[in-house]
Amino acid sequence: MLNLRRFRSIFLSLLLFMMFFVPQISMAETLDNNVPDASPAASVPILKSAISLPMAGARATNQLNSARWLVHKDAVEGTSKLRLVIDTSDPVIVSSTLDGNGPQLVLDIKGAVVGDVDDSITLDGQIAEKVRFIKKDGNNSQAVVDLPAMIDDGDYKVFTLKSDTANKKSFRVVVDINKPVPKVVYNFTPGLRNKVIVIDPGHGGSDPGAIGPNKVQEKTVTLAVAQKVKAMLENAGAKVLMTRQTDVDVYGPNASAVDELKARTIVANNNKADVFVSIHINAFSNPTVGGTATYYYQKSNYDALLANCIQDGLVATGGLQDRGTYSAGFYVIKRTTMPSILAELGFISNPAEEKLLSTYQFQQQMAQGIVQGLDKFFSQAAKRGGGL
Ligand SMILES: [Zn+2]
Repeated sequence: MLNLRRFRSIFLSLLLFMMFFVPQISMAETLDNNVPDASPAASVPILKSAISLPMAGARATNQLNSARWLVHKDAVEGTSKLRLVIDTSDPVIVSSTLDGNGPQLVLDIKGAVVGDVDDSITLDGQIAEKVRFIKKDGNNSQAVVDLPAMIDDGDYKVFTLKSDTANKKSFRVVVDINKPVPKVVYNFTPGLRNKVIVIDPGHGGSDPGAIGPNKVQEKTVTLAVAQKVKAMLENAGAKVLMTRQTDVDVYGPNASAVDELKARTIVANNNKADVFVSIHINAFSNPTVGGTATYYYQKSNYDALLANCIQDGLVATGGLQDRGTYSAGFYVIKRTTMPSILAELGFISNPAEEKLLSTYQFQQQMAQGIVQGLDKFFSQAAKRGGGL
């Protein structure tokens, strides 16, 4: 343990040194370490438009006075983020947009002109390259952060902080940008034994999913099939994690759609699953439409392969119309890090398929199709010999 008084004196001399010689990296950390730091952006609601107190008179003297940055590493999670702090003399209203042409993160700052802040500040180069401050009309300005690669909405957040006279802190605009997660290199082996497989029975609890003409609910069928898949995979020696085991909401009753879906992806991401399989039943206005389809989101060279293998398995065992595989940006397959698919087993809006889907026999066939597909996936993925 560090002696506190000694630490304080070392700290103060360091602080003085930094103020005189290293103004660029002054105390972002110490200035703002009382900010209730949001856990990783992937698991908190993202504030995209931060509004501070009403602009007191919106004086023309409100300025961007200085800016500083720091890369903070989370000791627990091992993740890093870049925090950029911009001091303003009075409150401002900030909105942010991602510009894919840059790639850039653009902050529109309403109510403050570019003041003493440097025109351009070089950042770490890994998470963000530089920030430039640009004069706009009236009392408005812009901060443009150049990025080395395009980021997602979930990868950054922007908020404002009030002044804190006791601690000599002015009003601040804070930008947190998460370090991009490095791509995983896969190296699959054949067989189901010891594979970690997450099965996600679609919907549940307060969300019944689609409902058929004879009142069969999607959530009931997806859970029944998932339980059968689990039993078969465990017989084959796989480790199976279910996002839900009973008729419940995964996040909580009546949670927002995103919280509910996020809860499902966290099960897979936190357990370093090899693959993620989400089970759903389709519905359409025309009751004659039917068949099986499987969706993937191309994050690696393995997502489409997984979709093709499971689609083939489902069509072989279930015998419904083969509607094929499609790329789609569904949340649960986009936000899971491992190869992931979402299978629409059949159409609950089609009375014949609704009836089939509610039988033990057909549910068993669907489960067999998924398991065959997974087995085929691991053997084909292993032949590729690893890679992104
Ligand atoms: Zn569904």
